Amino acid sequence: MRIDVVTLFPEMFEPVLGASITGRARTRGLLELGTVNPRDFAADRHRTVDDRPFGGGAGMVLMAEPLHRAIKSVRRPGSRVVCLTPRGPRFDAAAARRLAREEHLVLVCGRYEGLDERVLRLCDEEVSIGDFVLTGGELPAMMVADAVARLIPGVLKKADAAACESFEGGLLEHPHYTRPRVWRGRKVPEALLSGDHERIAEWRRCAARRVTRRRRPDLLKTST
Ligand code: SAM
Repeated sequence: MRIDVVTLFPEMFEPVLGASITGRARTRGLLELGTVNPRDFAADRHRTVDDRPFGGGAGMVLMAEPLHRAIKSVRRPGSRVVCLTPRGPRFDAAAARRLAREEHLVLVCGRYEGLDERVLRLCDEEVSIGDFVLTGGELPAMMVADAVARLIPGVLKKADAAACESFEGGLLEHPHYTRPRVWRGRKVPEALLSGDHERIAEWRRCAARRVTRRRRPDLLKTST
């Protein structure tokens, strides 16, 4: 898969997506990451990409033309263009799975007051990462890229690692424990030490349902 990010701050991406699992996925050729800066498509020598909003009000708006050109420079047949905006539908595990099936994603990051509305017509969808406002679309784009990348076959070491995690099958994940068996007087649940795979699987199923019921009962309504 290839992901191109349209951003005024391309330098933000390498420290995050160059590290750990996403970094290794890139080294192994499972994920390609590119950035494109709308400033490189500005029409003046000051590389201006924003202007005041029509109708007045605080803040600046990203102009349509540099964004349009930046998107056009990376878009190809079959690309899916995703605009990060707090006004979009909430990004979730199902959206990550859906986007992970794409061959090429273009993630468009807003800044300031956001994008000229007319640019949104160039996008195939809008995505929000939650009901709060960040200063720019870069962190949301990194979150989407990370969530999608770990679902690309071969990126995680064990083939079933992603399949057991929270939100898969409509449940939160069961708790995890590691050594020591007793830590500051707290014991690891006995079933996990039994070596009996069926018993362990049953304990995990029950624990996942218990934690989901307590913390996210809304998920149980849709789980099987
Ligand atoms: N004026 C906009 C509003 O009230 O909806 C907020 C603009 S925000 C300061 C600047 C940019 O950050 C947005 O264009 C978007 O790209 C990004 N952004 C901020 N919060 C976000 C969120 N929750 N999800 C996705 N993108 C977000």
